[in-house]
Amino acid sequence: MHAACLLAFWVGVSWPAIAVCFVLYWVRIFSITAGLHRLLAHASFKTSRWFQFALAWGATMSLQKGPLWWASLHRHHHANSDEEDDIHSPVQDGFWHSHVGWILSRRWEATMWKLIPDLAKFGELRWLNRFHVAPGLVMGAACWGIGALLERAYPALGATGGQVFVWGFFVSTVLVYHATFTINSLAHVYGTRRYETKDTSKNNWLMAIFTMGEGWHNNHHFAPSSERLGFFWWEVDLAHYVLVALSWVGVVWDLKKPPRRAYEVGERAEAA
Ligand SMILES: [Zn+2]
Ligand SMILES: [Zn+2]
Repeated sequence: MHAACLLAFWVGVSWPAIAVCFVLYWVRIFSITAGLHRLLAHASFKTSRWFQFALAWGATMSLQKGPLWWASLHRHHHANSDEEDDIHSPVQDGFWHSHVGWILSRRWEATMWKLIPDLAKFGELRWLNRFHVAPGLVMGAACWGIGALLERAYPALGATGGQVFVWGFFVSTVLVYHATFTINSLAHVYGTRRYETKDTSKNNWLMAIFTMGEGWHNNHHFAPSSERLGFFWWEVDLAHYVLVALSWVGVVWDLKKPPRRAYEVGERAEAA
């Protein structure tokens, strides 16, 4: 995937290619944090079965294996964070393992069905989990199609099928990879700790922006069932704002708030 990004030098670039890369980045980052993480792994809000599937599909377009695999391994991470059994701990196994090694490792290839009895009942999610390459391939084909259509209809834009494919499929996906993986690696290394959790999780505002809120990782390890990851108004949590807006129109509901003790401990830490 990384090497294929170099094809960009061959196919060139255009505004439509950049736009597709940009849109697919944010759509997938949102789907991962809202769908895989806050909804499937932590059940921190409720939604309809179709929107659950839409989020799972969007997240699976990021080519990070299946949604049930993802959610089950993530629950395992919370139960064992930074301990010997943690799937991706920079403390235990070093930076590279926590960043990409774990997802490429055969050891963590299987979905941990025992950890997700509540999710395994959804046939459509099991299907997506099995054919997890499908959404990515559909997305890639759509990128090519959009580029080819633009080339024919608006040649002045300079877009081609191959070009939009390279930017939308390869470049955008690699950016999504590193934004997501950074939370497993760097967010357990760099940043501040407001809460004394048993792991090394940190809060990092820069990562929070690129991941739509996931950078508030110490907050998250302190209160994993909260839908909101940025507990205070200055902790920018873009996915939370989108989910609140979606709750106004009834697409999602029952968003779990941070526990009161998060603010008690938080205010004491801020004052100190
Ligand atoms: Zn973590
Ligand atoms: Zn989590």
